[in-house]
Amino acid sequence: MNRQLNSVVCYVALGSNLGVPENHIADGVKALVDHSEIAFINTSLPYQSKPHGPKNQPDYINSVVVFKTTLAPEALLDELQEIENKNGRIREGVERWGARTLDLDLLFYGDENISTKRLTVPHPRICQRAFVLYPLRDLVHKQGLQDLKITEKATLNDCIAMLSTEAKSEIKECRIND
Ligand code: ATP
Ligand code: CA
Ligand code: CA
Repeated sequence: MNRQLNSVVCYVALGSNLGVPENHIADGVKALVDHSEIAFINTSLPYQSKPHGPKNQPDYINSVVVFKTTLAPEALLDELQEIENKNGRIREGVERWGARTLDLDLLFYGDENISTKRLTVPHPRICQRAFVLYPLRDLVHKQGLQDLKITEKATLNDCIAMLSTEAKSEIKECRIND
C-alpha cells in the first residue's frame, strides 16, 4: 500500500488526570488539529471516569477523536508521544496505569492489524474500558453511524452491553462548565 497517496482514518483515545486535565485534553486535540499531516474530523464529548489500576489517583477526563492521516503507524505513534511529552508526561518511575498529564492511545489505524514491538492496533483493551467505549459511542453517533466493529467477535454496542453495572456507574458525561 502506498501511504503517501492514501490517508487512513484513525481513532485516538485521550486521557488525563493531572494538572488541569481539561486543558491537557484541549491541548492534545489542538496539536492534532494543527498537524500538517493530519486532517481532523471530529471529537467526542469529554467524559469523567474513575481511575483503573491504582485507585489512589484523581478521576480522569477522557475523549476520543477521529482524523485522517498520511503518517505511517509508527510515525503517528511518534507524534502522539511527542504531544504527550509536550504536556509534561513523565514515564520513568511511574506505576502501570498510574496518574498522567496526557495519554494518547491509537485505537484504530484504518482496518489494519498491527503487532510490532511498539504498537498493537487495534488497541487490545478497548472492549473492557468504559472510558474508551462511551466517548467512542458518542463520536460514532456524531458521524451518523450506529455501531462499529471492535474485535472479530464484538462491536461497540456488544462491548458496552458486556460492561458491568459497576463499570457503567464509574463514568459520566462531563460538562466542564457545570
Ligand atoms: P494501556 O495501553 O493499557 O492504555 P498505557 O496507556 O498506560 O496503558 P503507556 O505507558 O502510555 O501505556 O504506553 C506504553 C507503550 O505502549 C508505549 O510506549 C507504546 O509503544 C505502546 N503501545 C502499544 N500499542 C499502542 C497503541 N495502540 N497506542 C499507544 N501506545 C501503544
Ligand atoms: Ca492508555
Ligand atoms: Ca498510552
